[in-house]
Amino acid sequence: MNLIERRVAAEKLPWQDSDVLGTLVTVDGGPTSGTVNGQAVVLAGTNNYLGLTFHPDCVRASAEAAARYGTGTTGSRLASGTYPDHAGLERELADFYGARAVMLFTTGYQANVGIISALADRDSVLLLDAQSHASIYDGATLSGATTYRFKHNDATDLDKRLRRLGDKASDALVIVEGIYSMLGDTAPLAEICEVVGRYGAALLVDEAHSFGVLGKHGRGLAEAAGVEDQVDVVVGTFSKSLGCVGGYAVSRKHDLSQLRAAARAYAYSASSSPSVMASARAALKVIREHPELRERLMNNAEVTYRALQQLGYELGPEVSPVVGVQVRNDQLALDAWHFLIDHGVYVNLVPFEASPGPFCLLRVSLSAAHTPEQIDAIVEAFRQLRESGPLRPAA
Ligand code: PMP
Repeated sequence: MNLIERRVAAEKLPWQDSDVLGTLVTVDGGPTSGTVNGQAVVLAGTNNYLGLTFHPDCVRASAEAAARYGTGTTGSRLASGTYPDHAGLERELADFYGARAVMLFTTGYQANVGIISALADRDSVLLLDAQSHASIYDGATLSGATTYRFKHNDATDLDKRLRRLGDKASDALVIVEGIYSMLGDTAPLAEICEVVGRYGAALLVDEAHSFGVLGKHGRGLAEAAGVEDQVDVVVGTFSKSLGCVGGYAVSRKHDLSQLRAAARAYAYSASSSPSVMASARAALKVIREHPELRERLMNNAEVTYRALQQLGYELGPEVSPVVGVQVRNDQLALDAWHFLIDHGVYVNLVPFEASPGPFCLLRVSLSAAHTPEQIDAIVEAFRQLRESGPLRPAA
């Protein structure tokens, strides 16, 4: 066997026999209804927080840009890949954040990998929240920096680790997220800013799940916590609230555009297609003009979280558009996931390997586009799962 044959033969996917990862999910004419394995379902596992994937302004802008500029740029931003919608979106995001410069990336994953590896090098120290997303860890690895993890959401542990760095503390970059994607909990950002500021270190906040969701204007947790001026860099993605695909790094304090050549994920990868940029621009406008979408989202989150809590499910510590239902046995989790689909609800099935604790997750993500009837259907499917399904409490 050669290396590839050995590697492929040895690799074991989660729930391999059930082919969970090959499940075909199709969307049926709107952001919250679809079909899974031929079964009509309410989509409650898509991170489509504001439901903008079908917003008429976004769909129209996307189609018009494709007709005018073609389907792709076929070039990096530093070559032939800067079109009017790329420049326009950068301007509009900079205005939204009150920032000097914005760097766009083709995905949120690339935004973290690109900006972290451009900011840090072998002489740097990175301090990551232990539950950081894979793209943050990968950016850290690529940078070559000495990397330490501090206890999840624990500003005291962060303080301890910065103190241990001595003189080097002011050179460290601390990285946290706004809303964590598995259990929906938020970082204690004011406390973290206080600690980071005391040591003169730098702070990057990944607002992938909180952009468009938290804050009076939807700028995320930093806005909600009133600490925007203390954050050095915000990373975000277009693949959740903005309903398309792409990512960005933005700073109120620093001119990040200086890093365009250093961020290899920016310099050496084709830019987003014009249709994606145009729909992101339209979606940003919707976010700015329709704060009621955030209210609707949070209301759906509150109703669902409270109802699942009352049914006795073990959830994350706070109300959030991400509701992670913990299941401590992988076969039960798989059976529960199939049960929910059979009862008309699609959620994400998260294996032990990807979850933040000794459990699998049935991860529910809410949307402003869920109707009250759809929220009822989600709760009812979980009620039946408790009463007659695989997660029935033992008698
Ligand atoms: N950061 C976090 C916290 C995420 O959850 C994700 C995606 N789930 C990303 C970054 C990557 O974003 P994208 O899907 O746009 O590549």
